[in-house]
Amino acid sequence: MEPHQKKQPFANSGIVVPVEPEDAARELRSAGKKNIDPNDPLLLLHFQQMVEQNCFIAGGGKFVAPAQRMADFSNGKLSSSLPANSYLPGLNPAPLKDVLPGFIYQSLARGFTEFGKKMHGYYTNDAVVVATESRTSSPVRIPRNAENGSHPQLQNFYPCGEGAGYAGGIVSAAMDGEKIARQLVSLFV
Ligand SMILES: Cc1cc2nc3c(=O)[nH]c(=O)nc-3n(C[C@H](O)[C@H](O)[C@H](O)COP(=O)(O)OP(=O)(O)OC[C@H]3O[C@@H](n4cnc5c(N)ncnc54)[C@H](O)[C@@H]3O)c2cc1C
Repeated sequence: MEPHQKKQPFANSGIVVPVEPEDAARELRSAGKKNIDPNDPLLLLHFQQMVEQNCFIAGGGKFVAPAQRMADFSNGKLSSSLPANSYLPGLNPAPLKDVLPGFIYQSLARGFTEFGKKMHGYYTNDAVVVATESRTSSPVRIPRNAENGSHPQLQNFYPCGEGAGYAGGIVSAAMDGEKIARQLVSLFV
């Protein structure tokens, strides 16, 4: 996050846990969802929806997010208070071990203690773990021809950027947009 002139006292970072289709299918099944098809192209979106709903409920509604101090998170201990933070709808202390899918919780809890061994001061109860940013880049990709960037079936359709599955951040989205814009200029101008 880039607050105006970086004048805020807070630093934010998203910590990513890879999710494979089999993880999503397993977690959806264990949450009691019926007829889970491991080949469903929307499988990971169903998983994302389930995680978001669980966090929404644990926050108590109105987009208040469930949160825990970092060491409390890794030790599975409910935080009795939370430090000041930059998340405007607000935070609600919650046991994230019971909110997040088990494999995500385990990866993060272990990861934070490992980061702490390598970066002095990282693993601290002054930091707050907020659940959850549930996407990085698009889980699906719209196909396009490598040579001219057009969709293989739809005429005059040029997928690009994050939503089409070709970028994962500001710079890669900008570069992909520029690439496709140059294609269009060479084709039509
Ligand atoms: C909270 C948050 C924090 C982020 N922080 C970072 C960060 O720190 N660093 C980083 O690198 N990336 C960050 N990202 C990711 C980054 O913002 C995106 O990867 C990037 O903006 C994607 O650019 P884009 O042009 O592909 O898509 P977008 O920026 O989403 O642009 C798509 C545009 O299309 C418009 N649109 C949609 N449908 C239609 C339609 N039918 N007709 C016309 N227009 C339409 C939308 O209104 C929008 O303006 C963050 C994203 C979020 C949500």
